[in-house]
Parts: sequence; structure tokens; C-alpha cells
Amino acid sequence: MLLFDNVTKKYNDKITALEDVHFTVDKGEFFFLIGPSGAGKTTLLRLLIKEELPTSGSIFFDKIEVPKLPNKLLPNYRQRLGIVFQDIKLLPSKTLEENIAFALDIIGKEDKEIKETTEYLLETVGLQDRKNLFPEQLSGGEQQRGAIARALASNPEMLVADEPTGNLDPDNAFQILDILKKINNSGTTVMVISHDRDIVNQMKTRVIKIVGGKIVSDTKGDYDSFKAVKKEKKQVEKKEDMFEGLEKDIQEIFEKAKIDKMEMVLNLTGADLENLKFSKKQKESLEKYVSNYLNSKK
Ligand code: ADP
Repeated sequence: MLLFDNVTKKYNDKITALEDVHFTVDKGEFFFLIGPSGAGKTTLLRLLIKEELPTSGSIFFDKIEVPKLPNKLLPNYRQRLGIVFQDIKLLPSKTLEENIAFALDIIGKEDKEIKETTEYLLETVGLQDRKNLFPEQLSGGEQQRGAIARALASNPEMLVADEPTGNLDPDNAFQILDILKKINNSGTTVMVISHDRDIVNQMKTRVIKIVGGKIVSDTKGDYDSFKAVKKEKKQVEKKEDMFEGLEKDIQEIFEKAKIDKMEMVLNLTGADLENLKFSKKQKESLEKYVSNYLNSKK
């Protein structure tokens, strides 16, 4: 459904906001995009709605190549994505019901459909009894739920929520999460940009972590899962680099003994090898390996 195809975005010579970002999203997925401030999350969102163009690479939504989409088709495309922006609030001069009805009116719905869909959306976010209140009369969580209802007005295929639980207490945050889950269960793909560790951990779903413009992990699990994944990967790389060409069984002995540097191997004595239970054949192999290593360094 969505493909970020090796996307790099440079705002200028010095600022690379995204670098070689590559991921795909299937229809019906629920995933988080996490990362520290300045990581490039907002840039990614801007590229998705063609508010910015990539410096290289491309973005595909369904069969649309987003950066090449003619501007006159943009409103139509953006309606297929329901975006709940972090800082765009409900219109203060309209009631909650009017806010949602207005969003439906803008996309050309008839009065009868506006009325029915507004009711349905208010129910989806559990705010039927608040519909006549103005945004300033609603709590933070209710305003956020109202913004989600409004974003759903165009019946989007994908809902994107930027920090939907920011500034909310845990009860309200989990309520928002439940609503997003419900929306996802009805078939809508959901992408949530979040800093909220508890929320991310509760879902046990896909988490794409971006740091310094690069995806550092893309895994199912917890907010911090990437650490384990990354460390594991690094160790393997290091081991492969370090002991390339060495028999697997010897590598395993080293791994158990936490010998992970060539320097440590060079310092092993005959007694050490005995302790590590090296067989005669393994000793010979290692000697050969070490001597090749030393010759290569000459
Ligand atoms: P996040 O949303 O993860 O906090 P952003 O996408 O806003 O990150 O920013 C990524 C990087 O790009 C930051 O270094 C930011 O300063 C820079 N940046 C964002 N927007 C612009 C812009 N319009 N012009 C120049 N640099 C920008």
C-alpha cells in the first residue's frame, strides 16, 4: 500500500533530514514511527502528503507516485490519508458536531450523508454526548478524539496520527489508543508517530525507529526492542569481521568465552586452550588461522 523507496531529503547542503529511508506498509497494518526530536518524522509526513519533495528516491501510495502527482490531484489524494496533525486543532468557533460536519461538507457530501456520517463518527470516538460543545469546553483527550473523528470524515484508507497522545494522562492516552485500534480493526491502515513508551509497548506491534534521518530498526515489539536487535546485529558483524574464515566450532568457543578481539586470541596460551577444551585438530586450525592473520599484517 505504501512504499518509501530509498528516500533522501536534504533541505540544503548541510541538512539531511532523511537518508535512504526504505520501508513498505501493507494494507491494514498498524505501526508506530518513533524517534527523538529532529529525527525526521515530520519530514517523512510532509513527503507523504507532498508538502515537500524528496531529493532522491520516491514514495508510492497504492499506484500513485506521490512526488510526481499533479497538484490539482493533491486534494483528492490527501483525502485518502486522514491526518491528525499535532498542532492543528478543531475550529474554535464551531461545535464539535459542526467541526465534523464541516469537514464532510468541504468534500462535497450531501446534507443527509453529512448528518448520518457525523453521528457515526461521533459514536466511533465516543463523543455523542459532547457534540454541542465548543472545542474550548472539551478536555484535551476529547479534543484529540474530535480531531480523529474529523480526520476520518473522508473515509481514508490510511490514518496518520502525529503524537495523538502527547500531553494526555495515561487514561486518556489509552482511550485514544483503543479508538485507533478500533479504526484499524475496521480495515484502515494506521500510522502513529509517538514518543509515548507505554503506548508503544502496550500495542506489541510494528515499530519503525528513526534516528538522525535513518531507520535504525524496524521490528515488532517494544519501544526499546531496537536496542537488542541492533546490538545483536553488531556483534554478529564484529565477529564475522574479526574471525572471518575461522571454523564455526572455534568461533562458538570464542563466543562463549567472550573472546571477541583478535588481540585476545593472540594472547591465548597453551594452558588457555586446554581450559577452553580445544581438540588437537582445533588447535592446529587456530594456529594456522593466527599465522595467516599475522602474515597478512606484515
Ligand atoms: P522530527 O519531526 O523527528 O522532530 P523533523 O523532520 O522536523 O524531525 O526534522 C529533521 C531535521 O530537518 C532537523 O534537523 C530539522 O532541523 C531539519 N528541518 C526540518 N524542516 C526543515 C526546513 N523546512 N528547513 C531546513 N531544515 C529543516
